[in-house]
Amino acid sequence: MNETDRLLSAQLRPEDAESEISLRPRTLREYVGQEKMRRSLQMYIEAALQRHEPLDHILLSGPPGLGKTTMAEIVAAEMGQNIRITSGPAITRPGDLASILTNMDKGDVLFIDEIHRLPRTVEEILYPAMEDHVLDIMIGKGPMARSMRVDLPRFTLIGATTRQGMLSHPLRDRFGIIYTLELYTPEELMRIVSRSAGILGVRYEEEGLMEIARRSRGTPRIANRMLKRVRDYAQLKSGGVITLESARQGIDLLEVDEMGLDRMDREILRVLTSVFAGRPVGLDTLAAAVNEDPGTIEDVYEPFLMQQGLIMRTRSGRVATPQGYRHLDLTPPPEEACGPGCEQTSLI
Ligand code: ADP
Repeated sequence: MNETDRLLSAQLRPEDAESEISLRPRTLREYVGQEKMRRSLQMYIEAALQRHEPLDHILLSGPPGLGKTTMAEIVAAEMGQNIRITSGPAITRPGDLASILTNMDKGDVLFIDEIHRLPRTVEEILYPAMEDHVLDIMIGKGPMARSMRVDLPRFTLIGATTRQGMLSHPLRDRFGIIYTLELYTPEELMRIVSRSAGILGVRYEEEGLMEIARRSRGTPRIANRMLKRVRDYAQLKSGGVITLESARQGIDLLEVDEMGLDRMDREILRVLTSVFAGRPVGLDTLAAAVNEDPGTIEDVYEPFLMQQGLIMRTRSGRVATPQGYRHLDLTPPPEEACGPGCEQTSLI
């Protein structure tokens, strides 16, 4: 299935772009959840402002839709600086990065999304830029080529990645501040959707919004998207007010179940429990069986299914937990049928 076709996809979709801008929190105070990151960033920002120095480079990792771009924009705003937003795949040549860096002002923030996808040649010129604020560029080609060193203003790089494991060590080591964002609790998502409902002028009963918060995979982007879909449903069915009933029915129509699992989540569970009948399954095999990209399974589906305790990763592959079986109304196999490498201690 095409990733952009899923309602629950945590990836940004074209229709989101406009409303995301209006729903995006603008200050640290408005940013909900991720308390540890928020509190320590607040402290670092205050200290940097007092010293009149730019912030250290920051790496944010975690599944899509959890607020990495939002946080980068907030950091720039709180520092009173401009932000330049780009992404790893958009910077194909060292020259692309050189032109971005040489056009920045002191203290500006450069946000690179999907930083794990930066080409190696670009990464190499990023190291001295991050560390010593210089750019080593090659002028000319072949035997006439010579290297030139250009001084850069001190800037703050904020890198975002859904795969911290794919980042090269030298790059990761150059970030002074590293955070891994966690999936949000239903209570935190409740705060996010009530704020969004206020901005969008949507009328609601608390239980209706709580239902949305509970069923949106711990992800603000999905919660906001679901809010808009349920609003449409409520407009037609319950006089424009999101009630528990209209939220339930609206979300059911989206084929999202009680626990917030969508069709692909259930398909992954079905493959693990029925097709492979409890044998550990490797990522590529699982991806082929459900017809989805392995990277998307790792970034988007697994974190949620694991957080819910429905699947686990073992040394020899993915398996459904007894709760995973029960979620599909199946009887879990006896422990010993689980196979080698399936025991709890091999959880990774
Ligand atoms: P990422 O960069 O991690 O993919 P974004 O920063 O684009 O995610 O977040 C997606 C949307 O979710 C934002 O536009 C915003 O509306 C909402 N959002 C994300 N994090 C938060 C948060 N902590 N508080 C409130 N809203 C949030």
